[in-house]
Amino acid sequence: MAKLDGKVALVTGGSKGIGAAIAAALAAEGARVVVNYASSKAGADAVVAAIRSAGGEAIAVQADVSDADQAQALVTRAVQEFGRLDVLVNNSGVYEMGPLEQMTQDQYRRMFDINVLGVLLTTQAALDHLGEGGSVINVSSSITTIAPANSAVYTGSKGAVDAITRVLAKELGPRGIRVNAILPGMVETEGSIAAGYIGSDMQTGIVAMTPLGRVGQPDDISGVAVFLASDDAGWVTGQLLSASGGL
Ligand code: NAP
Repeated sequence: MAKLDGKVALVTGGSKGIGAAIAAALAAEGARVVVNYASSKAGADAVVAAIRSAGGEAIAVQADVSDADQAQALVTRAVQEFGRLDVLVNNSGVYEMGPLEQMTQDQYRRMFDINVLGVLLTTQAALDHLGEGGSVINVSSSITTIAPANSAVYTGSKGAVDAITRVLAKELGPRGIRVNAILPGMVETEGSIAAGYIGSDMQTGIVAMTPLGRVGQPDDISGVAVFLASDDAGWVTGQLLSASGGL
C-alpha cells in the first residue's frame, strides 16, 4: 500500500517548480491531487497529465490564493471533485529581493498578500474539511534562518509563515490536524531561474555556505512533503524543517 492511499491533497502553486514536484510526488504515493495555479494553465494541465499517465488522479483548478472568495472556491472545488480533503500544501509564493530603499509598497503587498494572506485564507477555507489525521504543509524558506541583507520583505513574509505554522500547530492540534513548514534552500525552479538567481553570484555564495555543496532540485523538497503528509509524520507538528543541504 502506498503512503497516501485514500487521501486527497491540495497543492497551491502546483503548476511549476517546487509545487509541481510536490503534486507529482503526493500522487505517486496514492493521493488524489488538486493542482492549483494562478495563471499558468498549460503548466498545471501538464502536471495533471503526467500524474494521470502514471496512473494517478488529479485535476487543475485556477485560483488566486490571496483572494478570499477564490481560496474558498478552490477548496470547495477540491472537495466537490474528490469528496474530502486531507492534505493542504501552501506552496504558492513569490519572491523579489533588493535593498529596502528600492522596495515598493506594491512589492510588499504582492509578497505579503500571496505568501502570507494566501496561506491564511486557504488554510481557513480548508478547515471546514480537514479533520483528524489532516496535514497542513507550509512552504516557507531557509532564508528565515539566514536573514541575509537585501531580503527584508521576502524574509519578513516567510518569517510570518514560520510563526503562523507554530501557532496553528497549537491551535489545530486538538483537532488532530498537524501543521508543519518546509524551509527549502535555493532550488532551481522556473521562478528562481526567471528571477536570475540561478547562475548568479547569489547562487555561488549560497553553495559556498551549503555543506552538501549544490543548489536543490524540486525533488529534493517533494519527498519531505510526502513524509509530512503521511502517517510516518503522525507525531510531528509545529516543526520548521529545513531542506537545504545543511545551509
Ligand atoms: P515558481 O517556480 O515561481 O512557482 C510559483 C508557483 O506559485 C506557481 O505555480 C504560480 O502559479 C503560483 N502562484 C503565484 N502566485 C499565485 C497566486 N496569487 N495564487 C495561486 N498561486 C500562485 O516558484 P518556486 O521557486 O517553485 O517556489 C515555490 C515556493 O517555494 C514559494 O513559496 C517560494 O517562496 C518557496 N521557496 C522557493 C525557493 C527557490 O529557491 N525556488 C527557495 C525557498 C523557498 P502560476 O504559474 O499560475 O503563476
